[in-house]
Amino acid sequence: MEKLTKAEAGYILASGCELHCSECAFISSKGKCTDYVKSDEDVKPFGGCNDWKDLSKGRIEGNHDKTRIETGYVENKPGFGCRRCEELEAPDDCKRVDKRSPGATPGKIDPMGCCNLWEADPKRAKLTTPALIQLIAGGRKAHAVIRVKKQHSDGWNDA
Ligand code: SF4
Ligand code: SF4
Repeated sequence: MEKLTKAEAGYILASGCELHCSECAFISSKGKCTDYVKSDEDVKPFGGCNDWKDLSKGRIEGNHDKTRIETGYVENKPGFGCRRCEELEAPDDCKRVDKRSPGATPGKIDPMGCCNLWEADPKRAKLTTPALIQLIAGGRKAHAVIRVKKQHSDGWNDA
């Protein structure tokens, strides 16, 4: 099967987060998704979708016109990212996205990346990021420092 380019797949690098709704620029201070129509806006802190944008770059007021179905909304408490995707060919390739195509992380698919083709891996989707970095590195000490945002007990961040 011919692979998609990074651009076609919407591949991004999202270091330092789990790509959750609680870390998305479209989330309101009250935990509603402003990208979605009203009937879909009550998302979970541990949800995520293909419209995810990095909240650390600032909050965005969405147009309240998308739906969960059209944006591929899913929930996974540990998070998302290539490291939890069944298409990853560890340590740095993907079965469906061409790692040599132009885009983020030149020449590789990074475990801290993600794209619109994300599918939960039966084992890795349930693991924490530090455990995954260890696993993907083949048990060697992880060289990357992973900063995971501190969350309130209800799962929402301060940002
Ligand atoms: S549902 Fe999608 S757009 Fe809305 S807050 Fe979550 S990741 Fe962001
Ligand atoms: S491993 Fe999954 S999320 Fe990452 S680029 Fe490949 S298909 Fe997309």
